[in-house]
Amino acid sequence: MASALYEKLKNENALPSPAGVALRLLRLAGEEDSTVEAIAATIESDPALAARVLKLVNSPIAGMSRRIGSVSSAVVLLGLRTLKHLALGVSLISNNRAGRCENFDFGSFWRESIARAVAAQHLAARLEGLPADEAFTVGLLGKIGQLALAVGYPDQYAQALARARADDAPDLTEIERQMFGTDHNDLSADMMSSWYVPDALCEIVRRQDSPHLTDADARARPGRIHATLRLAGLMAAALNQRQANPDLHTQLEQQARQSEFTPEELDRLLSVVREEWLATTDVLSLTPEQPPASEQTQIDSHSRPDRGNDVVAPSAAGKDARPSTGEPLRILLVDDDPEQLSVLSKYLGDEGYRVMTASNGTEAISVDLAQAPQMIITDWEMPGIDGLELCRRLRTQEGAGLVYILVLTGHSDKIQAVEALNAGADEFLSKPYTRDELLARVRAGQRVVRLKANLAARALEVSECNVKLAAYNERLQTMASQDELTGLFNRREAMLSLAEHWALSTRHNSPLSCVMIDIDRFKRFNDTYGHKTGDLVLIETANRLRTMVRAGEKLCRFGGEEFLIICPNSSADAAQRLAERLRKAVGSRPIKTTGVECSVTISLGVAERTGNMTASDDLLAATDAALYGAKRAGRDRVHVAGARDPSPVGSM
Ligand code: GH3
Ligand code: MG
Ligand code: MG
Ligand code: MG
Repeated sequence: MASALYEKLKNENALPSPAGVALRLLRLAGEEDSTVEAIAATIESDPALAARVLKLVNSPIAGMSRRIGSVSSAVVLLGLRTLKHLALGVSLISNNRAGRCENFDFGSFWRESIARAVAAQHLAARLEGLPADEAFTVGLLGKIGQLALAVGYPDQYAQALARARADDAPDLTEIERQMFGTDHNDLSADMMSSWYVPDALCEIVRRQDSPHLTDADARARPGRIHATLRLAGLMAAALNQRQANPDLHTQLEQQARQSEFTPEELDRLLSVVREEWLATTDVLSLTPEQPPASEQTQIDSHSRPDRGNDVVAPSAAGKDARPSTGEPLRILLVDDDPEQLSVLSKYLGDEGYRVMTASNGTEAISVDLAQAPQMIITDWEMPGIDGLELCRRLRTQEGAGLVYILVLTGHSDKIQAVEALNAGADEFLSKPYTRDELLARVRAGQRVVRLKANLAARALEVSECNVKLAAYNERLQTMASQDELTGLFNRREAMLSLAEHWALSTRHNSPLSCVMIDIDRFKRFNDTYGHKTGDLVLIETANRLRTMVRAGEKLCRFGGEEFLIICPNSSADAAQRLAERLRKAVGSRPIKTTGVECSVTISLGVAERTGNMTASDDLLAATDAALYGAKRAGRDRVHVAGARDPSPVGSM
């Protein structure tokens, strides 16, 4: 049952939410039979999201050994579960970067959430509480309820945060319950549930600060997951703190001890997590204006104590009238009255704006083209081209769409105001106005200008990224990943792909199997019919194999008359069934080429990754050994690694 507060925020449309694309993705990911293409197409329908997902996939966080150039390879390689939660995070972050809740620092919130996600992911591998990608999700979204409160109740939540900072204050969750009837953990769980995150994870989040779990047996599953999350939270807080906080560090050390980490292990873990975290925040443009304390000082240095880790540090003071880029805003003033022009120029010049002037509409249009002002403040009544006509003309001019227009008018009635806005003005100010009124309007306009500039920069970034990607994809294609004779993937690609699937299988703790295939007594085709016929036999054999492998399985020509199939998420049993199908597909009818009929058989070795293998080469060696077993046992058969070695039959 979702809390009443959740329902209320939802009905008021006040909940932070991901873009429609991310929601569609979550829904698609829940459907059994959704294809890689459908998922890639969904992500690609939002170029900004696609660009960020690709950037993220290529950052250290994904642990890929080479560049991933397309969204569909990202889907295949990372797995849908990881990718959909990445997309969810990326989308939530880009929709909720800022807000007006005073004591809540939105950037810091996301930085800490990402640190918690990365830490939880690393800890999950070690503590075996929950799969790494689920731990990542819980870390990333587990405090999203705080964001919801900051967005939905900016003023009250600012008070709640302020209260939580007082000495001897109760927990933030306690204050939230008093003020809102529910706490951020409940709210987080309700929100995650609405995004199709599995129930089990939502419940973990709901109970993350539950006192009886804090004391629970850390060897039992709930206690272990709880301890993992708590440790991840403390690590994230330590990494994200702006000032060293001895209390926090003591708590971190205690929690690490409870989870059986030595101080050296904790230090190592912190440095790995820190590196991935910084790379990720960088990709998501969440880098703080000042580096976090963990960058400025050693984490264990003891200086002034700070607040509890639940409370997010206050944001930097509001920006002044100067644009944040350091470049003053360029404003064009248009008025036929020289005295007005000089008064306005003084007001704005004193504030540091770069002021240009024009004494009529015609002049304004030529100035506009030459100097590209970001804001125009124009009088309404002027001879020739008046203020409204100026608005209309500028709005039809190409490239002038970004300029912000403020119309000064002696008319105070509403109909006139509507007329000005309809003509293309962004805002109007009735005369007489005070200096403060004018400056407030200009500052409001400046926020819009800045926002539009950011959007434009982001669009540019995306299109640049797309251009680079297109060039990169082309290079990738021409790079020899294919075998010329058969059109299958070549050995180089097979080795790269195997290493990647090995890493994925480690990350998701999922099975991985290989099938190695060798044509029996192939030499005699060459010897009897010539090399050319041998080639044709190879091509047809490859074609028969190709029809049998499924999407996700990777068929490669591994050597002369040897083939390798990588089967992600497959047990040895499943791979053995595939191998039998392949054996029949090749051997069931002769291959006819250039007037001769060749009866071709193949031997196959199958192996699954086991606990005592340490690298993909071990899996390859086991597969090869199994193939050798099939040859020894008489050829035209499948042998599975680890199965009882068959006794030799016939000659080698
Ligand atoms: P076995 O059953 O033990 O595998 O016997 P085999 O004859 O298949 O094994 P062997 O490894 O002795 O011979 C493989 C032959 O495949 C040797 C090589 O000349 C031939 N071969 C390798 N690549 C090509 C190729 O691209 N085209 C042709 N026509 N022959 C090739
Ligand atoms: Mg006038
Ligand atoms: Mg061979
Ligand atoms: Mg052979």
